Amino acid sequence: MPAPDGPTTMNFSDLGLAEPLLRAVRDQGYETPTPIQAQAIPAVLRGGDLMGGAQTGTGKTAGFTLPLLQLLMGRAAPRDARSRIMIRALILTPTRELAAQVEESVRSYGKYLPLKSMVMFGGVGMQPQLDALRRGVDILVATPGRLLDHHQQGTLDLSRVEIFVLDEADRMLDMGFIHDIKKVLAILPPRRQNLLFSATFSDDIKALADRLLERPALIEVARRNADADTVAQTVHPVGRDKKKELLRHLILEGDWHQVLVFMRTKHGANRLTEWLNEHGVTAMAIHGNKSQSARTKALADFKSGELRVLVATDIAARGIDIDQLPHVVNFELPNVPEDYVHRIGRTGRAGASGEAISLVCLDEEGFLHDIEKLVRHPIARRVIAGFEPAAGERAEPIVLGRRMTLGGGGGTGRGGARRDARHRAGDKAAPAPRRDAVAAHAGGDARSRPGPGTGRGDGRTQGGPAKGRGGPDRRGPGASGPARSR
Ligand code: AMP
Repeated sequence: MPAPDGPTTMNFSDLGLAEPLLRAVRDQGYETPTPIQAQAIPAVLRGGDLMGGAQTGTGKTAGFTLPLLQLLMGRAAPRDARSRIMIRALILTPTRELAAQVEESVRSYGKYLPLKSMVMFGGVGMQPQLDALRRGVDILVATPGRLLDHHQQGTLDLSRVEIFVLDEADRMLDMGFIHDIKKVLAILPPRRQNLLFSATFSDDIKALADRLLERPALIEVARRNADADTVAQTVHPVGRDKKKELLRHLILEGDWHQVLVFMRTKHGANRLTEWLNEHGVTAMAIHGNKSQSARTKALADFKSGELRVLVATDIAARGIDIDQLPHVVNFELPNVPEDYVHRIGRTGRAGASGEAISLVCLDEEGFLHDIEKLVRHPIARRVIAGFEPAAGERAEPIVLGRRMTLGGGGGTGRGGARRDARHRAGDKAAPAPRRDAVAAHAGGDARSRPGPGTGRGDGRTQGGPAKGRGGPDRRGPGASGPARSR
């Protein structure tokens, strides 16, 4: 079975997993680890805290369950006075469905290990849960409410928990579980390993991560085809030379106040930013040539509403922790279709509605075609009168600059394809066009593509405080043993 988020070039056996787990993985029919698995499994095995940016569908459950099982199998199980095994791992999920699903995974991956798991959620009788607790449990998967009920009744002992997983933390907060989470944290022993998974990184999540995690490894993978239902997508066909005016028109007519605009190149981002400022729309560019302080300021002004438009390149945008934006504009379509998905994932997150607008000139029809193929549906086209391509306008080749720096991605995921594509796209001030850096995209026929076998999976590793995500960094390989919790 191919990995759900695209294959990696690794094998499960490269990740340091023990034989009983490899066998269970084989039984599942998994061939290669997904990007989150390739990154999370070694990080968790090292024993440190982890902050994982991943949503359901990326294979994150196995990403934390497999190493969790391995850590537990290598340690002696604590026993209570009556010699019953005590809970060593707690996985908290927002919903019953997810709890059941996760516990099912724990069973599947742990089927060759003598570890006991149980699922605990509300809406069902307490007695079977009490019976299961009495028989002894290594791994408890629970929703917060019922867990606290058991604790209040004195039927649950969490004093020996070594590994704590908070799954879908953003959904937990959306569902109003913050107080319950705090109560659960208060009853856990202070020394433990903490793993937090969230699809989004709001300020609330960062505050929670700050409270929970110590020097976490930070791993993020793309939202897979996050062609979210909550994002209204529109393509405005536009004349090549009318894009700037159309953008300004949309911003002013729509009275938009927080617009993230995507460009393919830094040079293009700078030029557009200048033009917008000259034409009465406050804008700043954010890309790799800007200093950290300039980026921080641009971001702060944008968040506070002082700055109307933030113009970003794909790579720069990866480290930006803004979401739930009302408007994302593709001033230029990305030549890597997955980038479209990343871009529009900046809006309409966590159930909030958002709008993703693409200004597409004839030259970009090939890119659009590839994007529609990826998201598996056509994107509505709407011509805005006065901005459509002039009669007789013809598609022209798109000049792609040379890329000098590679960002993110740590050797997993689509590696080669990404590198090639980025190389073609250029995220550097465009040098004079070179013959080999010109790709004809009109109609998509003459377009150079990643070679065969490069796959489409996307593993984006981010680590280190430079990413502006509240300063978590990577633990060195030497960091072992459960992290001390604050
Ligand atoms: P999750 O994101 O954990 O909910 O997993 C999404 C789906 O992907 C589940 O149905 C898993 O069984 C499946 N899955 C997880 N890891 C792999 C893998 N490495 N290869 C193929 N399928 C996988």
